[in-house]
Amino acid sequence: MRILITGAAGFLGSHLCDRLLSEGHEVIGLDNFITGNPENLAHLMNNQKFSFSRHDVSNYIFMRGKVDAVLHFASPASPNPNSPSGYFNLPIQTMKAGALGTHNCLGVAREHKARFLLASTSEIYGDPEVHPQAESYPGNVDTVGTRSVYDEAKRFAESLTMAYHRFHNLNTRIVRIFNTYGPRMDLEDGRALPNLLKQALLGQPLTVYGDGLQTRSFCYVDDLIEGIVRLLYSEEHLPVNIGNPDEMTILHFAETINQITGNKAGIIFAANARSERDPQRRQPDITRAREILRWEPRIGLEEGLRKTIPYFKEKLGLA
Ligand code: NAD
Ligand code: UDP
Repeated sequence: MRILITGAAGFLGSHLCDRLLSEGHEVIGLDNFITGNPENLAHLMNNQKFSFSRHDVSNYIFMRGKVDAVLHFASPASPNPNSPSGYFNLPIQTMKAGALGTHNCLGVAREHKARFLLASTSEIYGDPEVHPQAESYPGNVDTVGTRSVYDEAKRFAESLTMAYHRFHNLNTRIVRIFNTYGPRMDLEDGRALPNLLKQALLGQPLTVYGDGLQTRSFCYVDDLIEGIVRLLYSEEHLPVNIGNPDEMTILHFAETINQITGNKAGIIFAANARSERDPQRRQPDITRAREILRWEPRIGLEEGLRKTIPYFKEKLGLA
């Protein structure tokens, strides 16, 4: 296939490029570097099957030649209000990437009769009142809160994708991604894993927001990419959760990081640092992924952290 990947210079987009190139596909990456990093693609620049275009997906996308698949991953993704690359500080760009960007990418897919895959998110469930979150749960999202720019843009993107599927018969897929980590994450984007792992490797205390009893489950990037590729090759049009169901408190997560890195500096609680409507509990119900894609994660937290640490050490100049 000849595949367009938006957000290619980001954490997940760059891993997707690698995986699809390794399967023999041709990949065209597109990114405006608003939160991504060209270094994530540097190793591909001499690959004959890879090309790159610097472009904002919120503007019309013109694609020369055939396109067989469009994977729309371009969007700011960090909820940390203190990070310049968090969507709190890029609210309009975030809404445009989810709304106009999705519209433009669907347009490319329709023009080229290509399949389309949308990177959606567990955030469409908001601060969930149902646990764990199955795809049938419609969510609990505040339309005007500060997180809404991301959540509602992704909800709109899902609706628009289904409209193109139903009205134009476009061959679409929607993946709802739950917290994922691994090499090539931006160390400064303020998400839990980059913050905490960086602090641990620098011998600093880990900043746990609130009382740390809010829960998440963390999926290693290779597992996530495997699930996404299976979905791309499937004929499933309704949303599919992909994430690791191993739920834990953020406090336990931080303790595990300290234990694996041998960090003795402990934990400090930043009582008021949680963002508005920071979800209290989150855990994917992956029954559909298991049944439809025969997929489930294979890499546990300790193994995933060990695979991620060398990248962080290199970035921190500790390697
Ligand atoms: P990231 O910030 O590393 O990557 C996003 C990429 O999109 C960046 O390279 C950025 O420069 C690019 N981008 C943003 N707006 C753009 C625009 N208007 N035009 C062109 N490029 C643009 O984040 P990520 O973690 O790799 O997330 C990728 C996708 O996966 C996002 O759509 C995000 O919502 C989704 N997602 C990620 C996670 C996760 O845990 N990593 C969880 C749920 C959903
Ligand atoms: N968090 C934390 N310390 C940090 C960064 C994040 O305790 O240094 C918490 C945050 O409040 C949230 C959880 O970790 O409850 C996960 O946050 P993340 O930014 O990774 O994204 P989210 O899962 O909220 O989308």
